[in-house]
Amino acid sequence: MESILVLTHPEEGVLSKASLESITAGQELATQIGASLTVGVIGSATLPTVDGARLLVVEGEAFAQARFATDAAAAEALCRAASATIVLAPNTSRFQRVAAAVAHRLGGFIDTHITALKGENEGKIEATRWFYRQRVEAVVSRSQRPWILLVDAGTHTPFAGNSAAASVEKIAVAAPQTRTTVCGFRAPETGEQTIRPDAKLLFVAGAGWTKKQSDGQIHTEEAGKTILRFLGLTKASLGSSKSLVDQGGEGNSVLPFLTHMNQIGQTGATPRHAKGLSTCCHGEEPHVVGWRFISDRRAISLDPNCGWTRGKADVVYIADAFAVMDKLNALLEAK
Ligand SMILES: Cc1cc2nc3c(=O)[nH]c(=O)nc-3n(C[C@H](O)[C@H](O)[C@H](O)COP(=O)(O)OP(=O)(O)OC[C@H]3O[C@@H](n4cnc5c(N)ncnc54)[C@H](O)[C@@H]3O)c2cc1C
Repeated sequence: MESILVLTHPEEGVLSKASLESITAGQELATQIGASLTVGVIGSATLPTVDGARLLVVEGEAFAQARFATDAAAAEALCRAASATIVLAPNTSRFQRVAAAVAHRLGGFIDTHITALKGENEGKIEATRWFYRQRVEAVVSRSQRPWILLVDAGTHTPFAGNSAAASVEKIAVAAPQTRTTVCGFRAPETGEQTIRPDAKLLFVAGAGWTKKQSDGQIHTEEAGKTILRFLGLTKASLGSSKSLVDQGGEGNSVLPFLTHMNQIGQTGATPRHAKGLSTCCHGEEPHVVGWRFISDRRAISLDPNCGWTRGKADVVYIADAFAVMDKLNALLEAK
């Protein structure tokens, strides 16, 4: 019988949405193949009770910080304590850094960016992931065990938990010798945090925001204020086209809060959001390929012949985005 371990770590004392999604993935797979389920947590957190599952925790000051040596030791210990044959973990940067090493230490195998899991009656497990910038979907099955699978966020319903106090088994791990001391966090100086993976809406700004408008002038400052006002009102995540973020390096008028981290597309990110609103963007294929996982797509463009109108969006408003967004902001504020 397979033994499934969902490996997680808290963020600021609680399990993140991505961790809760991995628990759902573990529960669903355990039910499908009749496997046992264990949840293993690295670090202290308020933990939900997961019906029918063991709850293992590695605690202590050394394990509270993200750091390769301690995370790898804790993850390995949890896998061994759970006798795990299948390990599901959220595809966080913390686990991306250590999961391959943990697989190697256990003599196992790893696959990343898993978007779906399916268990067959006879115990066969199929994992789905995308390749070549989300253009090719593959279904992977392996006989090697343990098999570690990093699950992408936004692919499962987050585990809701129940109110019963969780009964926790503490796993003692000797803290390995470390050469790294974590002395704090330093974020890039982009001002406001605009990338919000858990947001329902993706708002994309294209290069049109910084181009000459019908009055022959550019209005970058006004564009920046309008966009930030909308983000403040909706808590949407901010994406950008490549042309817009490239402009900063070319000495052109730019929106100061945008970096290449915001870029969506073939050479950018492929985020997951329920809805997307593209503004002042032409909707060319290398950009739209990054919209693969946006379910409801809308665009505002002046060009009736843009890529969005040619089948890439559900709704296209052929209109001036400055005017539409001002009106939208006013309606949101009035609400
Ligand atoms: C190998 C390769 C990889 C690439 N990777 C990426 C990638 O990852 N991501 C990406 O985005 N691009 C990528 N590109 C570039 C991509 O092909 C396009 O050049 C880019 O997406 C264009 O950006 P844009 O639509 O913002 O700008 P533009 O093409 O300049 O379009 C601006 C649009 O704004 C509209 N507009 C102007 N003013 C207004 C207004 N007031 N109201 C409404 N609309 C207005 C205009 O009508 C126009 O349609 C890649 C290209 C290559 C070759």
